[in-house]
Amino acid sequence: MAQLQNEFSWSKSRHEKFDECRRAYFFAYYGSWGGWEAPAGSQVRELYVLKKLSSRWQWAGSLVHDALKKALARAKGTGELPPLEKVLEQVRAKARAEWAGSREKSYWREASRIVGLVEHEYGEAVADADWKRLYEQVVDGSLRAFWASPVLDEIRRTPRERWLTVDELDSWDFEGTKIWVAIDFAYRDADGRVHVLDWKTGKERGVDHVQVGTYALYAQRKWSVAVDSVVGGLVYLVGNGVPGGERVSVSADAAALDACTTAMRSSIAAMKATLEDPARNLAREDVFPRLEERDRCRRCPFRRPCGRL
Ligand code: SF4
Repeated sequence: MAQLQNEFSWSKSRHEKFDECRRAYFFAYYGSWGGWEAPAGSQVRELYVLKKLSSRWQWAGSLVHDALKKALARAKGTGELPPLEKVLEQVRAKARAEWAGSREKSYWREASRIVGLVEHEYGEAVADADWKRLYEQVVDGSLRAFWASPVLDEIRRTPRERWLTVDELDSWDFEGTKIWVAIDFAYRDADGRVHVLDWKTGKERGVDHVQVGTYALYAQRKWSVAVDSVVGGLVYLVGNGVPGGERVSVSADAAALDACTTAMRSSIAAMKATLEDPARNLAREDVFPRLEERDRCRRCPFRRPCGRL
């Protein structure tokens, strides 16, 4: 088998990590590279396992995303969306198994498919009531909200041949850099406009224009659609006091796409400027400083190897 290369690429999550903490960015994209085949006990293996761990909120969000992907992919193939009660039952069983495996730290024995929680790794105290509330509000609540939402009605009304993607990972080229993107759901409406939807399971309700912009740029290329015919849709599944499932539309006009293009260009240039050897995508740890403010390290998965326990 050909040896895998740590090729430089860009994604919104990489951009966020670069912004949050340079050392964490180094650990996630360079220090952990090759960790899937590194011997247990080595630092590269440790960094690789730690970068795969999630906070409990991220884990809850991924349970929702995975369940919606599975249900909608099945509906795309068969025309039948599984009943909500069946989905809830399957997700509950999956969540229980993953939580129990994480509590035993079984992720240290896995070669690649790692599901684990930062809270378990670092022995953080989380009350049973907090786990329960997280599950009921984010996982159960989001799935129920989705099944009752106008967005699902819209999806059901749209003929399946106009469903464009269900959370498939894809990439495109931007000025020589590979850009990774996975759109939760996209469809073409009767007027030819392409809607790119993103399921939100967090409480914040701000609009991330870089995210919507990258989706729109991808949609333009992938589905040959004009700039003004792409509509971004953020679907807030956790109600936070009001019923969940509200869709907020965000248009991606030429000015917004220009701003997004500029942001991507400068983010890529800043990342490349940190490299020891940009042609081979090689980086040196000491070029990536730790955060000054230790308070911001409290939830970081790398806090042990970083010396910030
Ligand atoms: S522990 Fe703090 S300084 Fe170290 S990688 Fe994490 S966020 Fe950065």
